Amino acid sequence: MSYKHIALPEGGEKITIIDGQLSVPENPILGFVEGDGIGPDITNACLRVWDAAVEKAYGGKRKIHWAELYMGEKAAEIYDGDYFPEETRQALTDILVSIKGPLTTPVGGGFRSLNVSLRQELDLYACVRPVRYYAGVPSPLREPELVDVVIFRENTEDVYAGIEYQSGSDEMRKVERFLKDEMGAKFFDDAGIGIKPISPFATKRLVRKAIRYAIDNNRESVTLVHKGNIMKFTEGAFRNWGYELAREEFGDQTITEEELYSTYGGKRPEDKVVIKDRIADIIFQLMLLRPREFDVIATMNLNGDYLSDAIAAEVGGVGIAPGANIADHLAVFEATHGTAPKYANLDKVNPGSLLFSGVMMLEYIGWKEAADLITVAYPIVVQRKVVTYDFARQMEGATEVPTSGFADAIIDQIHSGVDLQAARQQRSQAIEQERKEREARRVSEPFAEMEASGRTPLTVGDIMTRVPITIGSDVNVDQAMQVMREHGVSSILVEPGDDGEWGIMTQRDIVARIVHANRATDSVQVGEIASKPLVTVPTDMSLYDCSARMLESNIRRVVATKDVDPIGIVSDTDIFRVVDEFGWIPE
Ligand code: NAP
Repeated sequence: MSYKHIALPEGGEKITIIDGQLSVPENPILGFVEGDGIGPDITNACLRVWDAAVEKAYGGKRKIHWAELYMGEKAAEIYDGDYFPEETRQALTDILVSIKGPLTTPVGGGFRSLNVSLRQELDLYACVRPVRYYAGVPSPLREPELVDVVIFRENTEDVYAGIEYQSGSDEMRKVERFLKDEMGAKFFDDAGIGIKPISPFATKRLVRKAIRYAIDNNRESVTLVHKGNIMKFTEGAFRNWGYELAREEFGDQTITEEELYSTYGGKRPEDKVVIKDRIADIIFQLMLLRPREFDVIATMNLNGDYLSDAIAAEVGGVGIAPGANIADHLAVFEATHGTAPKYANLDKVNPGSLLFSGVMMLEYIGWKEAADLITVAYPIVVQRKVVTYDFARQMEGATEVPTSGFADAIIDQIHSGVDLQAARQQRSQAIEQERKEREARRVSEPFAEMEASGRTPLTVGDIMTRVPITIGSDVNVDQAMQVMREHGVSSILVEPGDDGEWGIMTQRDIVARIVHANRATDSVQVGEIASKPLVTVPTDMSLYDCSARMLESNIRRVVATKDVDPIGIVSDTDIFRVVDEFGWIPE
């Protein structure tokens, strides 16, 4: 289509979609929105860096043809007060891949945030925020280099869906009456009411994107973050639909964390992505203490909003954190900070957020070499302490440069030589080494590792006491009790005697079959008083089913078996401890 004010650059070709995949020509047209406030300063600086990286990486064989699109104040000037013109909407859709600077939300007159409008009108349902550390950037963490995570935040639902009723309004009264009178809900009068819709459709398309990303980028795991222990039918359902999607659509390429432990003994098969889940409040703590456990995170709108800024702050990066809003193919990359109006046109601020959003964009179109040139050049410059004001005030002996000067320093670094090969190798070796160390811990101390990594135990395999204590059936009860005392256990497995059956002796057997039967402990063999046959359960049985088995059989502990051999014991005390520590999410 032809546009009134937008000029598509000559010599550029549009990106298309062929067989569900982006098809990127060597001379693609990409859109950019300059943005308000500091937008022009950072956009001009970044355009120069991106072009320099592409030129260096491909020696002129590839070139981006930029099309300027208009939103915000610049659009209002050109389109007679319209901050988000229809033809910009159309061009974003036609061009498919664009990047934007920050936009002012006009105050008054009932304006919605332009960013919210953009996401909603183009149905950009996934907000993608990669957070990793770049050497030299000031950070409050002791080991910020352990943070390397990509957050997929659902963009269209949750309490952000805009279904809200103001306290005292007619609408609120209507909803209040319905909830109280018809649904029996109890809450204080005059409460403002917000609705939290979470659907299988929106959950699954978000989780699908996160898993696809993890597979394509050799990531180890996808973590579903939720508060399902409290909000069962929204956040709990998100978790359940996430697992369902992984099973149904990526069954050959994924395993659950439960399978990682119970089927694979803690060793992740190289070609499988592990799907796990964590409670939202625990993830904040874990991202500080054990950030390496998390690779790709998929979560709902509100959790994702908090989490992406909190994690970015860990690596000193709210000012340099990149982001993108993505639909099935259509993508708008963006600086995640605002317009910082007090710094507008001062050529002062840090272009990092937009710069790395552009790196994401280059990766998105498959131009990895150009992206990596920037990623590798950046920390070299920052480690030389050539930085903008925001970093300079946190560093001893820094050389403060303007926005444009920082871009120049990156471009110089790209030109003067960046050893991509060495940098990539170093990074992948560090990741590999760290993965191996964690795997070794999962194999040798699975329960401790699970607890430390915040896994909510769900199955028999997760909570059983491994390598249960066993004793020969011909040993006398006195000796057996001594072994139990030494190991601090309340039951002991009894090896098969002449009958070929495993048994279990518990404290209750002493009450019933020694004291109540009035027998001496040193004259009775454990095989005589052990309970047989064992009530056994498989390691992948859910705790719900396990509890049912214990209640049906009227026993306090069951034995977990693999093939026919006993390999662990689960007691009602173990189940109590799980519920006490982690809460209980109904199945
Ligand atoms: P802001 O523009 O992000 O600025 C807050 C502070 O963050 C700045 O004063 C500055 O801190 C620091 N900062 C932001 N960008 C920086 C950069 N590139 N380099 C260095 N420091 C940077 O937030 P705001 O003042 O709340 O919002 C201003 C306007 O932006 C509002 O109209 C808001 O609606 C809009 N906004 C737009 C977006 C978006 O388009 N995506 C996002 C958020 C807000 P110091 O003062 O400490 O130097």
